[in-house]
Amino acid sequence: MTKQTLSFQAEVAQLLHLVTHSLYSNKEIFLRELISNASDACDKLRFEAINDSGLYESDPELQVKLAFDKDAKTLTITDNGIGMSAQEAIDHLGTIAKSGTKDFVSKLSGDQKADSQLIGQFGVGFYSGFIVADKITVESRRAGMKENEGVRWVSGGAGDFEVETITRAARGTSVILHLRDDALEYASAWKLKDIVNKYSDHISLPILMEKEEWKEGELINPSDENGGRQPGGMVKTGEWETVNQATALWTRPKKDVSDEQYTEFYKAISHDFEAPLTWTHNRVEGSTEYTQLLYIPGKAPMDLWNRDKKAGIKLYVKRVFIMDDAEALLPTYLRFVKGVVDSADLPLNVSRELLQESRDVKAIRDGCAKRVLSMLEDLAKHDKLPEAAADAEGVTDVVSDEDKAKAGKYTRFYTEFGAVLKEGLGEDFANKDRLAKLLRFASTTSDSVSVSLADYKARMKDGQDAIYYITADTLAGAKNSPQLEVFKKKGIEVLLMTDRVDEWALNFLNDFDGTPMQSVAKGAVDLGKLQDETEKKAAEEAAEALKPLLAKLKEALKDKAEDVRLTTRLVDSPACLVVQDAGMSMQLARMLKQAGQAAPEVKPVLEVNAEHALVKKLDGSVHFHDLAHILFDQALIAEGGLPDDPAAYVKRVNALLA
Ligand code: ADP
Ligand code: MG
Repeated sequence: MTKQTLSFQAEVAQLLHLVTHSLYSNKEIFLRELISNASDACDKLRFEAINDSGLYESDPELQVKLAFDKDAKTLTITDNGIGMSAQEAIDHLGTIAKSGTKDFVSKLSGDQKADSQLIGQFGVGFYSGFIVADKITVESRRAGMKENEGVRWVSGGAGDFEVETITRAARGTSVILHLRDDALEYASAWKLKDIVNKYSDHISLPILMEKEEWKEGELINPSDENGGRQPGGMVKTGEWETVNQATALWTRPKKDVSDEQYTEFYKAISHDFEAPLTWTHNRVEGSTEYTQLLYIPGKAPMDLWNRDKKAGIKLYVKRVFIMDDAEALLPTYLRFVKGVVDSADLPLNVSRELLQESRDVKAIRDGCAKRVLSMLEDLAKHDKLPEAAADAEGVTDVVSDEDKAKAGKYTRFYTEFGAVLKEGLGEDFANKDRLAKLLRFASTTSDSVSVSLADYKARMKDGQDAIYYITADTLAGAKNSPQLEVFKKKGIEVLLMTDRVDEWALNFLNDFDGTPMQSVAKGAVDLGKLQDETEKKAAEEAAEALKPLLAKLKEALKDKAEDVRLTTRLVDSPACLVVQDAGMSMQLARMLKQAGQAAPEVKPVLEVNAEHALVKKLDGSVHFHDLAHILFDQALIAEGGLPDDPAAYVKRVNALLA
């Protein structure tokens, strides 16, 4: 192939522009990205060589070499991994294959800080080289291809790149960065070692640099020992040394890994700029042996809600990298967890299909899910700082460092991931009880999402035999719902749920610790022992007296309401809508419709408040028909819905107002 010039995919060109402008403040990550690519390339070679050991040619020691040339202003990262064919160089370095690229680029705002966050999450990878280089040359030969089938790829990082065929004896890839004038500091041994130490120490591959030694300058004037010498300098010795630890981080004993190293490893595997919230690192022994290193990120990724999003677990088998995003290793509701699992038992040639069926994998998945839950339980336990207790002499307990470090983390976790965790109620029956304890809600006594079901139970009134909750689109909607009136009057706490998944998830939670969960918008309200006898009696009498009115209302609203009945749940409002006990809530039906999904037609029950002036006025009114419809439509509006025929509603109200 003779030299040809090709254009970058439009998104790449856009991304490149942003990379060089937004990541400026965090330049040095380019090295982490390029070393990570080199390491991936070696992983791929090792993986392909499982079935074809010839791919190693005569060069089985996989490694990465860093070399710089101060005079030429270049920094070169060379690996002897899988390499690239010409077509692969065009495909992989000219386009971004990742799904959601367009979407991602469209989210970038031009705000440097916000963008670098997003770019970090997305992972700019190879293109980060352009932060420090105004030109990048890549030379490569794919393992197994002939020497004259090498490729050279060159680009200035603007709209296009050049490719041509070259002869290259060495297998693998060299990325040659032509450093910008303001990035010449990277052509220095100590600077490179410093960055490797910070970001790439955990890479299991040796990273080599040529040893340098100090050389005195030449003596110009032998009679003048001190003044007559040229300045000295570092010179290369031709000897290569390993500058990283070169052992996979997760294989090291916990005590040998610092928090900082755990954090950098997390950043490297997750492409997150921020530190993780917490992690757990264990060797699991028993019938299935594996090592797990699992992290909970500090922030939810932008595609958290995509249930097809791959879990962030990398699978290794006996240190050999097998695959990214091994979704079989964690249940879907824990898809936000990042980390590594290294199994001693799985076969090296394991495929995704095989993973789904393997009993070892099932044991690993169960083990990982349990670990994540333990980690969360621990954070939940330490969320609030213990009250500093003073003893008799007035000496206050010192809050431990561990307590301080963990305080507030569960709240942070729950804000980011609480809603996803709830999916677990429907997905992970074995851990349902543990999950239920981890849930937090707002309530009529707490605006913040901090009430656990156990807190709620501890505050239940004497004679209360259910945990009451309401679901709504917004907190304000939930709080001001007419259905809550009687609960407020009696001082009974009600959980306010506003996450989209709540309605669905609560289907799977019939009770907590023996106490039933009861939606206040479903079924007839039965306050049981909380209702006093005189109230009960008054209600029964009213029901008898208003029978004819209810029958008339039912007839007038027969197309809209399943039934019309009296209720004691209302105090200030004339009417509200509820659904039958087993029915789908109106809110869920609305949500499904908005999402374009088939939802059953939910015909609610209209409940009226016999004590309300408007209801008292109904009987015998000449406007009975209009009032009946207004009553219904208002109840619908009050709970966040819209009348079927809004114009008709407005007309009716206006007619009465006039
Ligand atoms: P990612 O690593 O997330 O796939 P990058 O932008 O870092 O994205 O790299 C893009 C692709 O270019 C890689 O997936 C790989 O196919 C190819 N590539 C980059 N560097 C190398 C390398 N040193 N050896 C072989 N292939 C490479
Ligand atoms: Mg990469």
